Amino acid sequence: MTTDENLLNRVSGQWTTEALRTMQEILSGSSKVAITAHRSPDGDAVGSVLGLYHLLARKGIKASVVLPDRFPSFLDWIPGTESICFHSEQSKESEEIICSADALFCLDFNAPDRAGSLADLIVSSSARRVMIDHHRDPDSFADLMISDPSCGSTCELICDWAIASGNWSNVSLDAAKALYTGIVTDTGSFRFPSVSAHTHSVIAALLDLGLKHSEVHEATFDDQSLSRVQLHGFALSERLKIRKGAGIGVIALDLADLERFEYVSGDTEGLVNRILGIRGIQMAIFMRESEKGKIKMSLRSKGYVDVQALATAHFDGGGHKNAAGGILRSMTMPEARLKVDEVLGQWFNT
Ligand code: 5GP
Ligand code: MN
Repeated sequence: MTTDENLLNRVSGQWTTEALRTMQEILSGSSKVAITAHRSPDGDAVGSVLGLYHLLARKGIKASVVLPDRFPSFLDWIPGTESICFHSEQSKESEEIICSADALFCLDFNAPDRAGSLADLIVSSSARRVMIDHHRDPDSFADLMISDPSCGSTCELICDWAIASGNWSNVSLDAAKALYTGIVTDTGSFRFPSVSAHTHSVIAALLDLGLKHSEVHEATFDDQSLSRVQLHGFALSERLKIRKGAGIGVIALDLADLERFEYVSGDTEGLVNRILGIRGIQMAIFMRESEKGKIKMSLRSKGYVDVQALATAHFDGGGHKNAAGGILRSMTMPEARLKVDEVLGQWFNT
């Protein structure tokens, strides 16, 4: 399929002629290419690294993919996951890949510290760095920075590169599956405001390649363990607190709750959006004790309510206006709940 004018004209403005040229120059001048993404990788992180990996493979470039740690098992089905090196499990091999690379793609994160244990290596690497991302306020740490916060996913930005650089014919079915997964997960199945007519055009172009979108949805969303579904039921019926006047819903799960439902990484994914789906709720907060004294926060909001600002100011985090995350450290869950109450009280009085 050839890319039509409409598709080409609407690619992210970040892919300027100069950016495309720099990308080309970096790719052709590198013999060792590495690709990485943020810690606790989500669908967009895994989709973009594997999408680019398959795309480059078709161009005859064998890249190595390194991630700081594992992603949830509902993404295991994406073609190419078996080739990923996890720093948390294969530290030597991962470090070797980053240190010896002459081109390093940093996908779906806007600052080295978002890559967790890989942060220092990314900064000290002598490779030419390319950042492709859609989070606000990026650190300037790469030689080529493609940063488009108006775009719903990094996978869409990778598709845009393929379209604008004449590489669409190098999008294999495996690449298409990975890229579709990133777009569908980061847009909440095409519901967030960042979804544009162009997003749908990109999806149409992926379908034209032979992608079966229903298979992606089934593999990603309809293959849950019974204990995970029961954990969601428990969280919503027993652990949800609504601050009615303020339109805020909070779910907090401690280690004991998680153990009871045989929690594995990724099992609480989507819970925060269930809170946001409740009538009258403007802000949803999900708190999970990830280890003793450490609480991972996920925040979502509707419309003008800016959870990124809240996460940045109070929870050592960041993200996007309507979807952000952060961490509370050295606190029990009851202490964390109090802290959140206090912060929300102040936030809405200011
Ligand atoms: P989630 O709630 O799905 O973990 O994350 C939602 C959004 O917030 C994502 O875009 C993610 O990049 C961002 N985010 C999550 N956790 C953190 C964090 O600890 N620090 C920063 N800066 N951003 C985060
Ligand atoms: Mn993303």
